[in-house]
Order: sequence, then C-alpha cells, then structure tokens
Amino acid sequence: MDGSDFRSFEGPATGAPRVVVIGSGFGGLAAAVRLAGKGYRVTVLERLDAPGGRASVFRQDGFTFDAGPTIITAPFMLEELWASAGAKLSDDATLRPCDPFYTIRFADGEVFRYSGDPAAMLAEVARISPEDVDGYQRFLQKSAGIYSVAFEALADKPFHSIPFTAAAMADLVRLEGYRSVYGMVSRYFKHPHLKTVFSYHPLLVGGNPFTTTAYYCLIAHLERQFGVHYAEGGMGSLIRGLVRVLRENGGEIRCGAEVETILTKNGKACGVKLASGESLEADIVVSNADPGWTYGRLMSEAPRKRWTDRKIAAADYSMGLFVWYFGTRRRFETVGHHTILMGPRYRGLLDDIFIRKTVADDCSLYLHRPTASDPSLAPPGHDAFYVLSPVPNLASGTDWAREGEAYRQRVQRRLEDTVLPGLGAEIISSHFVTPADFETRYLSPLGAGFSLEPKLFQSAWFRPHNLSEEASGLYLVGAGTHPGAGLPGVLSSAKIVADLLPDAAAYQPGAALSVS
Ligand SMILES: Cc1cc2nc3c(=O)[nH]c(=O)nc-3n(C[C@H](O)[C@H](O)[C@H](O)COP(=O)(O)OP(=O)(O)OC[C@H]3O[C@@H](n4cnc5c(N)ncnc54)[C@H](O)[C@@H]3O)c2cc1C
Repeated sequence: MDGSDFRSFEGPATGAPRVVVIGSGFGGLAAAVRLAGKGYRVTVLERLDAPGGRASVFRQDGFTFDAGPTIITAPFMLEELWASAGAKLSDDATLRPCDPFYTIRFADGEVFRYSGDPAAMLAEVARISPEDVDGYQRFLQKSAGIYSVAFEALADKPFHSIPFTAAAMADLVRLEGYRSVYGMVSRYFKHPHLKTVFSYHPLLVGGNPFTTTAYYCLIAHLERQFGVHYAEGGMGSLIRGLVRVLRENGGEIRCGAEVETILTKNGKACGVKLASGESLEADIVVSNADPGWTYGRLMSEAPRKRWTDRKIAAADYSMGLFVWYFGTRRRFETVGHHTILMGPRYRGLLDDIFIRKTVADDCSLYLHRPTASDPSLAPPGHDAFYVLSPVPNLASGTDWAREGEAYRQRVQRRLEDTVLPGLGAEIISSHFVTPADFETRYLSPLGAGFSLEPKLFQSAWFRPHNLSEEASGLYLVGAGTHPGAGLPGVLSSAKIVADLLPDAAAYQPGAALSVS
C-alpha cells in the first residue's frame, strides 16, 4: 500500500465539526475511525508515504515484512473498534491463534513452551521447578486481580482529573503498583528461569521488568484469557481495514503531509500548519505524534503549563530497538512463530540497556517467523523473519550508522549458534533499522521504540493526558499517552478520546473540554 492509494474524499454532512488527526499509527487511525463513526469530518495527516506508523508493512524481494507489532493479545478490542464505526473486523482481517504463544529458550539450553493451555502450562512450570507450582497458581490469581482493575476498570478511562485519580488511588495502591514487575513475580517464584518467564512482558511495551510498575503483571492474565493471535497476511490487513472503514464513514487520509505546528487561538487548538505551508482549520486536533514531539515541537511557540521543554527533557524514554528483517531461500521448519532467545544475563543486560545505556556484547532476541503460520508472506519454500534486539535508546550516544552492520552480524552469529544454523548462506533479502531510524522516521525522541517508559511516575495521571492540559480542543492518543504502548494501550487511548467527545450532532462549537 502506498500513498497513491489515498485519494481525497469529500467529508460527510457539511457543517459537521472538523477533526484533524496528526499521524496514522494504530492510535491515530483508531481515533479517526471512532470520531468518523460519531459523525465528525475527519482528516488524518501522515508525514510518511503510507499509513500505519510503527505498524507499517514493507515488501522487499518478494517477502512481506511487518515492520513492528506482530502479537495481538486483545482481539476483542479490534472487534469493538470496527463495531464503533458500524463495520465488521472479519470483513477486513482474519485473526488466528498462536500455539504455543512463545517458545522461550535460555542460554543454558532450557526451553519453556509458553501457551494458553492451563494443563500444559502447569506441566511446564512443574518440569522446571516443582516447588513453584503453588506460587504459579497464586500468581495467576494476582494477575487476574490486577487485570480486572488496571485493565478492565481503568485502562480506557481518562486520567486527567485529580478527583478521578484520587478515587482510583486506593485500588491502585492495593494492586501494589509501587512494586516492579520483577519484584512482584519474585514473590511468587523461586526458580530464576520462571522469574524471567513471568517478568519479561514489559519489554514488549518498552519497559524494564525491574522498574516497570507491577500493573503490567496483568499481561499474563490477558494472554491466558484471550490468547495470542496473528493477523493472516500480516498487520497490513488491519491498517488497510481501518483506512477503508474511515473512508466509508467519510473520513480522508493524506500521506506525505507533515504537520509543523498546532495552531492555537486564545488557548484553544484551531487547526494545523503543514510543512508545505498549507494550513487546515479544525474544531478538534488529535495528535498521534509522540507527546514529546507534540509539545516540544508542534507547540513550541505556545505557552505550556505542564509539558515544558524542561519536563520533556527530564522524561525517561523506553529502550531502543534494533530490528533486522531478512528472507531466506529455504524454510527453517523447527522454528515456531514467536521465539524468545534469552541471553546469558537478565538483570545485567537490562541494566546496560536502561540504566548504563551501553550497547552490550551479549543480547536477548525476539525472533518472528510469521511464515511458520502463514507461508503467503514469502515466496514458496522460503521464510520471512524479523529479529528484534532491545538496545539502549540514543542517550547511549551510539553512532548506529557506523555500528549498525557490526551489530547485525553479531545478531546473525547468535542466531546461527542457536536456532538458525547455516543462516548466513541462506539469506536472500536483508534490511535493518536502529534507534536512529526510529528518531528520523517516527520523530520519536531519543529514537525510543515505545515512547515514554512505563514507570509508575510516568503512568496514569503522570503520563501525558489524552485530554491536553495545554490547549482546549487538543487530544492526544498513542503509545506515549495514557494508558501506554502496545496495541491494547494505544487502542484504549483512542477510545478514551472518542468517549470524551459527544456525537458530532451534539457538539457545541467553543465548548471544547479542557482540564481544570
Ligand atoms: C518493532 C516493534 C514491535 C512491536 N511489537 C508489538 C506487538 O507484537 N504487539 C503489540 O501490541 N505492540 C507491539 N509494539 C508496540 C506497538 O507497535 C506500538 O505501541 C503502536 O503501534 C504505536 O502506535 P501509535 O499510535 O502510538 O503510533 P505510531 O505507530 O508511533 O505512529 C505515529 C505516526 O505519527 C506520524 N507522525 C508523527 N509526527 C507527525 C507529524 N508532525 N505530522 C504527520 N505525521 C506525524 C508518524 O509518522 C507515525 O506514522 C511493537 C513496536 C515495535 C516498534
């Protein structure tokens, strides 16, 4: 899909309030679809030549590569999103369950098959550490308890109001969010491998298990309850589907359209100015750009109460990502859809990435082989892969233009020594991205893979609000806003924004909500 697919579309009822959405990541598209479904005239402006942001898709040498997300953990949220605009997810995408969810391989040769089958999971835990079976069952209860509050009750509620936050505080304290995920997991497990297996999930949303708030222990329950899925044909089917639903509801998307400034008048957002010099008026502006970019660059001239340049500079950003996409001339049948290759160090490597900010000699890897489930993503008899290595963000000072190829070779050697012997001779397509690409492509501060780190004091009220406190009529969606990164998080942020606004017919010009 390229930008030429996106023709201008006449909006719905003339006179309906206008919404400009900056950016077409999952958060921006989901907000656009929901607001178009509510009768607003929606225009999405995307600086890249195709929609999707981190979830974009590229084709190379006959292979189809999902650039970013691959794991779908809350399929019901996608169904609900399509339904919010009178559409059916199944018209655009087919989701299929993965079994196992992940194969986790340790450096000492131990393998843990992480699945949604309760009996198989119990057997895996018992095989590794019989004395941890009871703790595992209690951990599942804890995870379910956190899920019911932090996800079901609070993830799709706005956290801009102090009374609301105060009312939620008792629950949040009871859930022990002041602990880290690793700290919480360690209360239930003794075996180091099991501590790793049940604590690594924050890495999927940019967090360090040793500092990410224990609310993220909810992921274990989310996966167990709803499964881990992939989209047939890749994530592109979801992005194309969202664009289709947006257009069916009268919305439009313009690619190659970079917003330079959010225009404000008397403290209210009233439109945007593009890098081309064009200006677009709007009643409501929704920014899916990184909050650091939204406030630090797009609103650099506007007076700001909370998100000053100093506060943005002091924020902690998530780790960076080195992602290598490659296609092979043959299939590696023994490798599953999702494999995690743990390196020899767990805490030490995470300290290097998040605290010392140095590129380590060792690495832990997530290996994606979508062709294990869906051969259509590669020419017949071939495999499409991507391998992702968490690395420090650009605060490390690494010159990735110089170091990138050497790092790729290191990752290749690690794969050859473990699950892909002889890989070097089989590669026929190759492309890698580094934190430097995340900075230039997605305008991500410090080239972070997942925007702000999900620490306690960068979560809920402390995270950039979905209803901006800097200008009325301005709303924020996406990974850097509440509730956080990952598809469930960014889809929730879009729902919050849509729920804050009335149907277009009931919208009162000048009555935009603002944070008091
Ligand atoms: C490699 C990788 C793997 C991942 N795996 C998973 C996974 O398996 N499961 C999961 O749930 N999550 C995963 N995630 C996280 C998830 O992909 C992201 O949290 C989510 O896609 C981010 O969506 P977003 O809406 O915040 O916006 P983004 O995808 O960041 O999109 C923002 C868009 O805004 C555009 N933009 C920015 N500034 C401007 C401007 N001034 N004018 C116009 N356009 C602008 C950008 O070009 C971009 O297209 C992964 C992320 C990465 C990077």
